[in-house]
Amino acid sequence: MKSLLIINAGSSSLKFAVFNLPLVKDAPSIFRGQIDGIGANTQFVAKDIDGKTLLDTIIKSPEGTELEAQQELALTTLLNWVEEQKVELAAVGHRVLQGGEKYSAPVVVTPEVFQVLETFIPLGPLHQPHNLRPIRVLAAKYPNLPQVACFDTAFHRTQPWQAQTYAIPRKITAEGVKRYGFHGSSYDYIARQLPEVIGDKAHGCVIVAHMGNGASMAAMRDGKCVATSMGFTAIEGLMMGTRTGSIDPGVLLYMMDRHGYGPKEISNFLYKESGLLGVSGISQDMRTLEASDAPEAKEALELFCYRAAREIGSLMMAAGGLEALVFTGGIGENSQFVRNKVIGYLEWMGAKLDPELNKVRGKAHCIHTADSKIAVAVIPTNEEWMIAHHTTSLLGL
Ligand code: ADP
Repeated sequence: MKSLLIINAGSSSLKFAVFNLPLVKDAPSIFRGQIDGIGANTQFVAKDIDGKTLLDTIIKSPEGTELEAQQELALTTLLNWVEEQKVELAAVGHRVLQGGEKYSAPVVVTPEVFQVLETFIPLGPLHQPHNLRPIRVLAAKYPNLPQVACFDTAFHRTQPWQAQTYAIPRKITAEGVKRYGFHGSSYDYIARQLPEVIGDKAHGCVIVAHMGNGASMAAMRDGKCVATSMGFTAIEGLMMGTRTGSIDPGVLLYMMDRHGYGPKEISNFLYKESGLLGVSGISQDMRTLEASDAPEAKEALELFCYRAAREIGSLMMAAGGLEALVFTGGIGENSQFVRNKVIGYLEWMGAKLDPELNKVRGKAHCIHTADSKIAVAVIPTNEEWMIAHHTTSLLGL
């Protein structure tokens, strides 16, 4: 059976999914899983189409092995396992952070394209090199295997210049310090589902809230992005699991001055110690916080929803209206509390949730009342399928 491998590689993790060809709309992956803890305790978990665990093992590498070598070992271990499943790979699709200003759509990776993608490393040093490494390793090992890169930024290339520009000196903007936005494959997928779920409103102003461990929002007009909450990096905008979201940069100056923070500590502060985890002091996990009676957990939840509502206010102005609001991502798809609380802030605009519909899980559907002035929907996202779709379309598979 010919199949596609979809890879989402980070510095310490590698998520994967395998889809059969020909790719059917919304087909489930036949295998999926992840390799976590690369560089420390590397664990490889693979599941079948029903979610049954097929493999749960530790990948050992000799003491003192460099991170890069460990990442390559993780990839080759995955490739060997895939081969053992009698899967014949026809192509590989990759999630890549940055397509810069050049790529507004997925692209087949040729040596020339790869060189361009490497020039974007300074724009995303925490992700881009790790996204590109598997492409390089695969190209060396299987030179005839086609590879496609799908960019987190591509969907947002339709934003007007005002939405992409920081109020900073022009020469720094010219270096590429701009608001790119991320979670593009998720928004791409949701934008394509909109007509089926919300009908004609899909052509109007729609805000999509992708809320997972990372969280962002995008405002669309006729399914095209006009503004998004994330900017140069995946920190800007909403409060997240462990990230601050937008913050007065003066706080960072204060931490440097008062607590002696350097770049490493600042990075941890922004990416790892804040958000739901920082405010609650308990967990970054929405499920844990919702189950907790601690006032700090309640505060973290309230702040998460308040910040989301304020972001909706801002995006609504950029989009010129609001016909529909869509929730997706682990929190967006599952948290009744978050949806209810966020829509509560929009009540003055005539948005109303149906509490019974808000309880329904696991399918794309509307959750507003018949007399609500704004449509509200939940649409489960499927980033891997989106990448698989682009890979097959570009390669004619
Ligand atoms: P990632 O951004 O890493 O892909 P996900 O989209 O899987 O993350 O989202 C993870 C978040 O979704 C976590 O905060 C988790 O607690 C939350 N989540 C998952 N299931 C539920 C649920 N039933 N109720 C509330 N939150 C949930």
